[in-house]
Amino acid sequence: MRAARDTTRPAPGLSKSRYQAGLQCPKRLWLECYRRELADAIDEATQALFDQGHRVGELARERFGGGVLVAEDYTRSAAALATTERLLLHGAECLYEPAFRYDGVFVRCDILVRRPDGWDLIEVKSTSKAKPEHVTDCAIQAYVAQGFGLPIARAYVMHLDTDYVYAGGPYDLEQLFRLVDVTAEVRRLLPDIPRELAQMKAMLLADCPERTIGGHCSAPYDCGFIGHCHAFLPDYPVTEIPRIKPEVVGELLAAGIYGIHDVPPDHPALTPLQRTVCHVIQSGEPRYGNGLADELARLAHPIHFLDFETWMPALPVHPGTRPYQMLPVQWSCHTLHADGTITHQEFLHEEPSDPRPAFAESLLAALESEATGVECPIVVYTGFENRVLRSLAEELPEWAPRIEALQTRLVDLEKMIRNHVQHPGFHGRTSLKFVLPAIVDDISYDGLAIANGAVATRRYEAAILDGLGDLQRRQIFADLRAYCAVDTLGMVRLVEELVERCS
Ligand code: SF4
Repeated sequence: MRAARDTTRPAPGLSKSRYQAGLQCPKRLWLECYRRELADAIDEATQALFDQGHRVGELARERFGGGVLVAEDYTRSAAALATTERLLLHGAECLYEPAFRYDGVFVRCDILVRRPDGWDLIEVKSTSKAKPEHVTDCAIQAYVAQGFGLPIARAYVMHLDTDYVYAGGPYDLEQLFRLVDVTAEVRRLLPDIPRELAQMKAMLLADCPERTIGGHCSAPYDCGFIGHCHAFLPDYPVTEIPRIKPEVVGELLAAGIYGIHDVPPDHPALTPLQRTVCHVIQSGEPRYGNGLADELARLAHPIHFLDFETWMPALPVHPGTRPYQMLPVQWSCHTLHADGTITHQEFLHEEPSDPRPAFAESLLAALESEATGVECPIVVYTGFENRVLRSLAEELPEWAPRIEALQTRLVDLEKMIRNHVQHPGFHGRTSLKFVLPAIVDDISYDGLAIANGAVATRRYEAAILDGLGDLQRRQIFADLRAYCAVDTLGMVRLVEELVERCS
């Protein structure tokens, strides 16, 4: 049933984020305006991204020094408008967070700089590149600012430059940030904005628009109403068919096919792999391919099971590193011996120093053949550990030959499963978070304080950078060790179960 608008209340005003929401999906805009309580809760990892954006935004202001901050927060729009107007009347040359309203839209700009021919508008993003949605963000700001009476000469997206190598000390802000001139694209978009706004305002005067779920729910942004709009889907929804095109999802939903169990086995729009996934889920019977036993038999004992955790700080912390450079900070390794016993080794960098040398040294000490006596296989899950080791060998050339020797011993368990195992409990995926509970019943992520990689990264960053007390840091480090250990012990149990099912 369509949600109805409360006609006793006036239609809400628009903002730049609501304009962006309306471009993504009219229903999203409607829900943002009238039914915020239906939005998904903001999780810890998403909140961390917001916080990171604020930190980068504050630093970006120093790139254009000498400006004046319009300090009123989002609850004080009228005061922010008044302050902006006053600062402009007094001849401000550079403003941070100025506020404007025009044509029913309220915007705050990140940075405005007065130039001889008008104003430069700078939209700051903590991303590593400018994206199309950043341009529409600039366009609505330029539209409102110009409507207010401020000529916008140029518009820029300013993002972090991943080529910048931090030298230590204060950041070189000219190098840390890259300015992308999007003036031409913004000018191309401006003529469409009055029509788009008129459509959005008209839509907001009616009841909630119908909109089928699809690819637009997560592009260009993850919509906050996914939980609400996807609630009608059954277990094993058609959206779980791997790599299914949004238009095929749309066709299935339009035909009243919501669950994989109802997908016709010969549906012409599905690829052979997608049909196989549907068939396995419909039959409820797992399939173990013929090649699996051979591949498992090639794993000679002792078998190491290795997992890494990494940290990618947006703002580089260690000299010689770049924005978003991947820093390995933790490894866990369970070893399955020929007599069935299992041993565990681990490393977690708990200091604020560069983790890479200690990470490499500890890993080599644990896994080099000199340490173990044999060239035993190192089982990993996906190509991630190989990529981390490749980067580490490039960044620490003195360790490179020894790191490369480890790489030759890696065996990718995810690839083995992808090639040989189909299981209804995988829900069409092969990530450990789906595969493990489907095959192994005595290891689980339930009850862990950290249950996914995004939260692990956030907590690690907090422990290193946020000045937490000793007790809190120790708890985070203990939680990180427990989380990483489940991944590697889970792989041990996975291989044991697969060996049993193949025998
Ligand atoms: S979940 Fe999808 S359909 Fe629902 S409001 Fe968001 S974008 Fe629109």
